[in-house]
Amino acid sequence: MSTIVNCLVAGRPISSRNQVTVRSPYSREVVGTVGLAGRDHVDAAFAAALQPAEPLTRFTRYEILDRARLLLEGRREEFARLITSEAGLCIRETRYEVGRALDVLRLAAVEALHDDGQIFSGDISPQGKARKIFTVREPASVVVAISPFNHPLNQVVHKVAPAIAAGAPMILKPSEKTPLTALRFAELLHQAGLPGRMLSVLLGPTGEVAERLVQDPRAEVVSFTGSVAVGKRIASIAGYKRLVLELGGNDPLIVLDDADLDLAAQLAAEGSYRNSGQRCTAVKRILVHDSVADEFTRRLVAKTKEYTCGDPSDEATRVGTVIDEQSAIYLESVINDAVTAGAKVLYGGIRNGALLQPTVITNVPRDSRMIVCESFGPLAPILRVRDLDDAIALANATAYGLSSGVVTGSLDKALKAVKQLRCGTVNINEVPGFRVEHSPFGGIKDSGLGVKEGVVEAIKSMTTVKTFSLPW
Ligand code: NAP
Repeated sequence: MSTIVNCLVAGRPISSRNQVTVRSPYSREVVGTVGLAGRDHVDAAFAAALQPAEPLTRFTRYEILDRARLLLEGRREEFARLITSEAGLCIRETRYEVGRALDVLRLAAVEALHDDGQIFSGDISPQGKARKIFTVREPASVVVAISPFNHPLNQVVHKVAPAIAAGAPMILKPSEKTPLTALRFAELLHQAGLPGRMLSVLLGPTGEVAERLVQDPRAEVVSFTGSVAVGKRIASIAGYKRLVLELGGNDPLIVLDDADLDLAAQLAAEGSYRNSGQRCTAVKRILVHDSVADEFTRRLVAKTKEYTCGDPSDEATRVGTVIDEQSAIYLESVINDAVTAGAKVLYGGIRNGALLQPTVITNVPRDSRMIVCESFGPLAPILRVRDLDDAIALANATAYGLSSGVVTGSLDKALKAVKQLRCGTVNINEVPGFRVEHSPFGGIKDSGLGVKEGVVEAIKSMTTVKTFSLPW
């Protein structure tokens, strides 16, 4: 059944003649249509966000987030199926995604109750005085948030829930490829009691909506998650405002000679194929010590056979489509390029529409597109390394610096990797993508400016610290 939704200004659906049609990447059936916004709606959204209003108390923010969690809990399956329909991600993954979104709401609700102020004594030096300095965090006047397609619900919740906890009004621009989940979730938040002025959701022509939002001086913070190219474009046009940029990744999984190879193969498969390989922290390069590379490769191929690729709504499917056929064709060309340069496809590599089988590839040249750039799909390229130093040098050799995983039995090697890998996260004996929803998360180099997300850090990025002092 197809859904009709409209963008929301201050919680109210707009009327619009411009529409975008969302189709299932798997069946090409129409999943829904969205009434799009224009430049007047951008102005109306800023005006609504800036309306003078009583700040929401911490308890009210907590209650809204907690009620939203309960409402989402009751509609888990509906949201999982909606994500599967519009994104082509398999139902097993989208149920997991809804679970993560529930965690974000729970943790943001708890954070809303925490006082985050600090107290400093003024009489700690001969230059000081008998005063006390206090800090309070004040919400940003308006936060503009822009989210990508790959986790249509969780990426949105990671923007909106911290904004609610912080008490900051938000204008959200979700991906045009997966707008239905975002709009349904915004409706749910308003049902949970979120005042209209606290959230508008706009989609429309990039120049008229997304770029106007980014450039508008009324936006105090722009929080963007998406590709490096768009992130850098935003940085170049935003002007004088705070930027939170969570961009692409090219994460390595390093497998050393003392690794548990069953664990390594399992982590490589999970990291490369989960969410159809469309995670910023997916394993995008597997760097394996020469002495264990043959055995590791054999085990990874065996493991990969368990990742059935097909109809995303089928309970047995473990890898659904990528976001659209064009992306699958691009990934196919990346595989073909590597093969022309001497790589060998050991398993998978077959495309059918937007479905691309999980693919294990060996002998991949270090300078191939698959290794140097981000491939957003279920590819598992294996490269041989001489030792840990070679692995670290290769891991650090791309423009990205999001996350990484290292499989080793040695604490010394693990610590060396933690110290020398140039990226935001190092997970030992885990996939690069492991985290909990309130731990700090984010990359450096082309993967981001080092301003972290995760519920706790996101709340910080959407607030400013004010200090005041009193005689004591
Ligand atoms: P994308 O093409 O960069 O799009 C992201 C968002 O930006 C969409 O809402 C898009 O709108 C919007 N946008 C496009 N052009 C814009 C412009 N000129 N100004 C302002 N906004 C603009 O990314 P994607 O393909 O959706 O997502 C995949 C990428 O996101 C991958 O590179 C992945 O690694 C990255 N990602 C990073 C993280 C992280 O935390 N580091 C997490 C998840 C994903 P339209 O949809 O309307 O074009």
